[in-house]
Amino acid sequence: MIQNLLLGTRNRNKVAEISAMLKDLPVKIVTLLDYPEIGPVIEDRNTYHENALKKALTFARHTGIVTIADDSGLEVDAMAGRPGVHSSRFAGDDATDEENIEKLLRLMVGVEREKRKARFVCVIALARPSGEVDFIEGELYGEIGFDRSGENGFGYDPVFIMPDTGRSLAQMGLEEKNRISHRGKAMAKVRRLLMNESGSQKSVVRSQEESLNS
Ligand code: IMP
Repeated sequence: MIQNLLLGTRNRNKVAEISAMLKDLPVKIVTLLDYPEIGPVIEDRNTYHENALKKALTFARHTGIVTIADDSGLEVDAMAGRPGVHSSRFAGDDATDEENIEKLLRLMVGVEREKRKARFVCVIALARPSGEVDFIEGELYGEIGFDRSGENGFGYDPVFIMPDTGRSLAQMGLEEKNRISHRGKAMAKVRRLLMNESGSQKSVVRSQEESLNS
């Protein structure tokens, strides 16, 4: 079992979500908020895997600590999977969550309920300072609402509806969201992997690593 784990994010919502999911593991959790000298890593790759890998390896190498970093996004069927890997900057480079939601709802005007299916995807890279990396994935299926509802969470939560209850992710508490969410499902697998560290399958992703350094 590792002793320290770095969460490769400064997003306080994510730190809270992920810390809650790992709270009973005997690992000390540190975050990028503990390393103000580390600059931002630009998520400029075309896949979740590459962005997650780029972040996790950069931080693991800088700190010498096993690191998890994720990249996630919203994929809307009626928009051929957009905004996908570009979810955070859907409405522009410095777009706010509100602006992204605004753009999404505008593009979905006139789309009937049956065609509003969407999913969140989360890919987590777990990188060791040696360069060994595991990828872990999770998904959450739902649909895009016709309007916002709820005050919790972040990103597209107010317009992401669970079809069985009609409630948005922003109407759920943290624990309820974590139980079902893409990140929650991926983190449950990360938990298992950390607990069975000795028996886990590790993959050295040299080719992707090389492409990141090119
Ligand atoms: P990130 O890579 O996890 O930072 O996610 C990229 C973008 O996807 C975020 O800025 C959000 O717009 C969206 N996103 C990812 N996960 C969630 C979530 O759990 N709820 C709402 N939006 C999310």
